Amino acid sequence: MTAENKPKMRPVSVLRDKARKDDVHRISTAPDRDGMMKMLSALLRQSAQGSLSLALVCIDINDFREINLSAGFEVGDLVLREVAERLRGALRQGDHLFRIGDDEFVVVLPSILHEDHAILAAHKISACFDEIVVLPGNEPMDVRASIGIALFPDTAEGGEELLRQATVAMYRAKSSKSQFELYKKVLTPGDISPFQFARELRQAVSNNDLELVFQPKYRLSDKSIEGVEALCRWTHAKYGLISPADFIPVAEETGIITAITSYAINNALRRGANWQVNGKPLIMSVNISAYDLNEGDFPELIQRALRTWRVEPSQLMLEITETAMMQDQKRNIGILRRLSDIGVGLSIDDFGSGYSSLNYLQQMPVNELKIEKEFVIKMANSDSDIALVQTVIDLGHNYGLQVTAEGVETARAEDLLVDMGCDLAQGQYFSPPIGAEELEQLFV
Ligand code: C2E
Ligand code: MG
Ligand code: MG
Repeated sequence: MTAENKPKMRPVSVLRDKARKDDVHRISTAPDRDGMMKMLSALLRQSAQGSLSLALVCIDINDFREINLSAGFEVGDLVLREVAERLRGALRQGDHLFRIGDDEFVVVLPSILHEDHAILAAHKISACFDEIVVLPGNEPMDVRASIGIALFPDTAEGGEELLRQATVAMYRAKSSKSQFELYKKVLTPGDISPFQFARELRQAVSNNDLELVFQPKYRLSDKSIEGVEALCRWTHAKYGLISPADFIPVAEETGIITAITSYAINNALRRGANWQVNGKPLIMSVNISAYDLNEGDFPELIQRALRTWRVEPSQLMLEITETAMMQDQKRNIGILRRLSDIGVGLSIDDFGSGYSSLNYLQQMPVNELKIEKEFVIKMANSDSDIALVQTVIDLGHNYGLQVTAEGVETARAEDLLVDMGCDLAQGQYFSPPIGAEELEQLFV
């Protein structure tokens, strides 16, 4: 779904007023979220009586703030009008267009009977942004948008929920730089609404309310600390400690992950630099997500952070789960090679939980396999898990990789791993994830 069409030049007369389809709503100058919700509720009431299904499309102009700041608010307004006009031109009779926020539009498409119809409509809407916007006296502007779609009654039961889902999908499109995304359900903890949860998470990130803890990785041959893994923590004022297993998927879904990764990399390297200066050079492992790999400038972010904290690339190891790494293998190989060329280490996390193609594994420029902790934990009571762990260790070694076992909870697990020739171990038996100051006590 990536935008590949090169924009064509087209002079634009912003104020032209060609004949409009009667029931396509005119864009009001002021955003009208309430008007949109009223119309949506009326349509949903109708649909409850019949078999109507509909799609709600949320469209957010990318970098609109920059347009306002660099070209002025007047130009910003003209851009909005131009976008509205293009959108109107792309709609069918019976579709409804609203402006609901500064740079946010909503299109309600009734009579969408199938996901494929919504995708077709999304392509048409996306094509509205293919042509460069030319305003008299201004530089031509490549105005792009992020588009999210939600379907009723597939995932949402009411208007507010439908709008929220389309908004989540829109943020997802923004973060993955795709033309559009269809909403897919994700699970969020407890009974907080996903919308509120995402809003609070975003706030926590910008208020610097997240923190990092560190879990040491021990070399099994001499029990020395070889490195540490940085793990993110969010202590919520009302709900207490929220596990990254709960908030990372939401962060990925809404695009907040980019800020979390930047926070984790920079703060982990800041600590690592300090330990290095104090004579304890440790390899710092940081978890990254599949979404980070979609950011074209991710390697530059890493380079900048290494320069800022004056850390050697070889002191940083990036962990990517097996499932994330195998998602878009051809694309990932390219970006992983760029990271590897910088000199940072790459590790496949939770290995064994996904379905690696050995062919791709061979091509991935990785340095480490981390065995999925469930297998290591179950090893104590299951011969088949012992065999599995041994297989992963041998596989890693055959590919020339370092192998780390996580989830080491007992002395027996440690003994087994030593016998099996595993290189490094991490787990409660050695140390749980702890604060930086506490970790420093282990150095002395
Ligand atoms: P992971 O990268 O596989 O991290 C290992 C997890 O195992 C951590 O869970 C750690 O606390 C836990 N663990 C350590 N020793 C033991 C043990 O002996 N037994 C058991 N049962 N568990 C052990 P945590 O901190 O809850 O993190 C969960 C996952 O969230 C991580 O799994 C990682 O995938 C993700 N995550 C954490 N921090 C970040 C982050 O900054 N960025 C991203 N993208 N993901 C993160
Ligand atoms: Mg990890
Ligand atoms: Mg893991």
